Amino acid sequence: MKAGIPPAATAAEAIALSDLVKCYGSLRAVDGISFTVPEGEFFGFLGPNGAGKTTTIHCLVGLATPTAGSIRVFGNDVVRDYRAARQLVGLCPQEFNFDRYLTNRETLLYSAGYFGIPRNECQTRADELLKRFDLWSKRDETSVKLSGGMKRRLTIARALIHRPRILILDEPTAGVDVELRLELWRFLKELNEEGLTIVLTTHYLEEAETLCKRIAIIDGGRIVALEDKDALVARLAGHRLRVVYARPLDRPIAIPGIEVEGEGQQVTVQVKDPGQIATILAQLATFGQILDVAVDRKNLQDIFLELTSRSRSVAPETLAGKRLS
Ligand code: ATP
Repeated sequence: MKAGIPPAATAAEAIALSDLVKCYGSLRAVDGISFTVPEGEFFGFLGPNGAGKTTTIHCLVGLATPTAGSIRVFGNDVVRDYRAARQLVGLCPQEFNFDRYLTNRETLLYSAGYFGIPRNECQTRADELLKRFDLWSKRDETSVKLSGGMKRRLTIARALIHRPRILILDEPTAGVDVELRLELWRFLKELNEEGLTIVLTTHYLEEAETLCKRIAIIDGGRIVALEDKDALVARLAGHRLRVVYARPLDRPIAIPGIEVEGEGQQVTVQVKDPGQIATILAQLATFGQILDVAVDRKNLQDIFLELTSRSRSVAPETLAGKRLS
């Protein structure tokens, strides 16, 4: 090994980000993030608007140059070994960026050309992908005539034309209706089951919960959570117990070690351990006659809001200044 060159990533490490920083002038859009994605994983990359997701992805595929830190794709540094790294990644960008004068088949062939794939091979692959993504009947039309869902499928087909080992999707279901979203999820699940590593950025928490194995949450350019999805939900979420009393309570509820929110007839208790629910309920029943009980599991949405709320909280005077009234 040459002096000064870090050891290559193991074969199972598809992506390795190490202290990645990307600045735009004085803005640290990505502020020192590190994580790895093993081969074959469905990885969710979540965060509010402006959190740094797209910037990270742009650094990963060479559309932006990191200010500091490094990214390796199957051991290839995305700056030093750009061509090798880029060959291994397929990108579905957020915006549709098709050439409106190319047919959909030509769109795939044109993209294949960037990766030096021989002409005959390109045609075979393009036709396979057009059939697989239900676009065969549209092969000789331009993208202008495609529906939103078809355009999304064409974006994925184009990203796969050079047979990458990693597929990166930047908000693939933005603006897609429920039916088409389910259809895209099916395609993505299939691709992942075939061994493709997938990195997905999304605003749809349900999407990340349904598809991803691990989830990183980025906020203000920093990773605020990175965990197995189920563990994340279990660790941070717990359950919410809501109790409605038959009459307003005549004394405040005080149970040692339990935080009770609400007053009047309705109270809410956050419960970490579902095994405690029955005990807490029995204690709550000593304060008045219970009319109704609801228990729900907090989901990723709750966790996301909890973890990202700090940077979104705005000083009251700033809020007042923004009021429309
Ligand atoms: P969204 O969910 O809205 O797409 P995001 O998490 O992808 O957001 P980025 O697009 O990575 O966020 O933006 C991170 C920050 O960097 C934002 O403050 C954004 O305005 C800024 N930014 C992004 N690209 C540039 C650029 N080319 N020049 C200057 N600032 C930029």
